[in-house]
Amino acid sequence: MTREPSLPVVSVVIPVFNEAGTLVDLHERLARTLKELGQPWEIVFVDDGSTDASAGILRALHEQDRAVRVVRFARNYGQHAAVFAGMQRARGEVVVTLDADLQNPPEEIPRLLARMADGTEVVGGWRKRRQDPWPRRAASWAVNRLTSAAVGVPMRDYGCMLRAYRRPVVDRLLECQEISRFIPALANTLAASVAEIPVAHAARPDRRSRYGLFRLLQLNLDLLTGFSLLPIQAVSLSGVLVAALGLGFAVFLGIRRLLVGPEVEGVFTLFAILFFFVGLQILALGLIGEYVGRIYQEVRRRPPYVISEILE
Ligand code: UDP
Ligand code: MG
Repeated sequence: MTREPSLPVVSVVIPVFNEAGTLVDLHERLARTLKELGQPWEIVFVDDGSTDASAGILRALHEQDRAVRVVRFARNYGQHAAVFAGMQRARGEVVVTLDADLQNPPEEIPRLLARMADGTEVVGGWRKRRQDPWPRRAASWAVNRLTSAAVGVPMRDYGCMLRAYRRPVVDRLLECQEISRFIPALANTLAASVAEIPVAHAARPDRRSRYGLFRLLQLNLDLLTGFSLLPIQAVSLSGVLVAALGLGFAVFLGIRRLLVGPEVEGVFTLFAILFFFVGLQILALGLIGEYVGRIYQEVRRRPPYVISEILE
């Protein structure tokens, strides 16, 4: 199938990291949905350093469908770096982002676009019946509260990548120079109007997230590229641990004091209190370290990703 090289109205940007199992299916469902919209469209796949057959499949999809464009990263730089690179190449008036694992049904895209008809600049999906394990959902709940407060735009689901952005917001996003960009949050700070609609969510076919627990933690701390910040994060964590232990010890000693009587001159009580505050201090130091680390990363100005190949 070949298309006229007319400019697309809708660009769909998809980060891909080892998704060989779903790509063909995803492309077929997307193409069908987009055709029904009756407007020129394109799909920009960004291969985030996949090590499985994804690259070959994307190349084949590009050969077979000229509306498919592919950007390949030299190695794995993370989902948000991939989405950003895709946005840089997208030409549409509206850019839709989507996960490659079919957890976000492509059939929801027309509803996102319909919600935009009144001029709303960003429309996010929130996963109504989220098909993820409950610890993931619990963590997300907390993160959404925190992010809402930090960004100043309350949203139910910052983690949902099924979202649509109008061109002005995309352009503003692309102007942002910072290294770690959590795109949904960043976009909300740049948009004049934001809306959220419920969307369906499917279980991951292979039941395995591409994110491990720690990767997730890192992402949620918005320290996507924070390799060199790891030590200071460990310092923060150990601070919490020491503080918690100290607090536990203090409680234990308090109860013991009531039941058995005071230990030698109350020396250990003092230690417990001391540990608690020492822990808090280490935590505070770690937090300062996070900010300093961020500044360090920004100052280095390393390119956030390296592209090895572009098919278009
Ligand atoms: N992804 C990526 N780079 C990564 C990790 C994930 O491009 O380092 C992509 C992945 O292929 C998928 C999307 O980001 O399209 C979301 O990943 P996943 O479905 O594993 O996350 P979850 O559903 O657990 O939030
Ligand atoms: Mg997923």
